[in-house]
Amino acid sequence: MSDKLQELREKIQKDLSQVKSVEDLKNIRVQYLGKKGALTSILRSLGDVAAEERPKIGKMVNEVRAKMEQRINEQMKLLEAHQMEEKLASETLDFTLPGRKPALGHLHPVTQTLRDIKKVFMRMGFEVVEGPEIETDYFNFEALNLPKDHPARDMQDTFYITDDILLRTQTSGVQARTMQSREPNTPIRMICPGTVYRNDYDATHSPMFHQVEGLVVDKDISLADLKGTLELFCKEMFGDSVKIRLRPSFFPFTEPSCEVDISCVMCGGKGCRVCKNSGWLEILGAGMVHPNVLRMSGYDPDKMKGFAFGMGVERIAMLRYGIDDLRLFFENDLRFIRQF
Ligand SMILES: [Zn+2]
Repeated sequence: MSDKLQELREKIQKDLSQVKSVEDLKNIRVQYLGKKGALTSILRSLGDVAAEERPKIGKMVNEVRAKMEQRINEQMKLLEAHQMEEKLASETLDFTLPGRKPALGHLHPVTQTLRDIKKVFMRMGFEVVEGPEIETDYFNFEALNLPKDHPARDMQDTFYITDDILLRTQTSGVQARTMQSREPNTPIRMICPGTVYRNDYDATHSPMFHQVEGLVVDKDISLADLKGTLELFCKEMFGDSVKIRLRPSFFPFTEPSCEVDISCVMCGGKGCRVCKNSGWLEILGAGMVHPNVLRMSGYDPDKMKGFAFGMGVERIAMLRYGIDDLRLFFENDLRFIRQF
């Protein structure tokens, strides 16, 4: 047994003298001191040794083990220090180099425009109200004076989920919801911004786009209030020199109704490609709230009057930034997005 131990001791010395890395050292530790290691198995087999020899052999094994552990620890420290030195020498740091800046994103141009629109109306005392994008047929159409068989429903291609549930084609449903949630004849001054959906896709239409609609209901509201409010809005968005023009139009939920144009932001009204030489650009639809719409939401059209308007946020953004294809907003091409 003691011969065997002597042999092992020499082998350990030899192995330790050949160690080159921390990994070698770890392997040796497992090889001799691990659960199935050579020294451990000698300790286990002490039972086979004659009883009088046992204490002597046991002491020797423990000595070898203690020495070995000590040497491994010392060598480990040396090797680790050496490795650190090598690492520091190979990785020179140049503290004079400028740091790497984290890439900062920014708001999407549609979001920027939407925020600017909200700001203008909030300064005029409008509250911002949001509503569900999955809407009932009732709030999307019926409550806006568009009964089931109304021909104006053909004006929009609607994504229906069931016969009664749809993706809203306009945010007007929020206006009806708001009126119905308040005491009848309570004055209202609100805008409802949000995402809307229509089955359309070309350079000026997207199946998903953003709208801001507005509603003012109070006593003695007239078309003059509508015009004044929208004129101020257009000047805030496009500059003080912008003029507006109202043209008669038709919407089922307003009477009278109008399209609102602004003088062309590209040519200042002289005529150019963007305004098709007319000098004017259509920017939103508006009108006096139809008495039926007021009545359906519990308001008395003999006491209360109102005006409403609606605009596409992408359209406003296109005019502000001179963009000619609406699809660019949603293609997520960074070369486009980074320009704003
Ligand atoms: Zn023009």
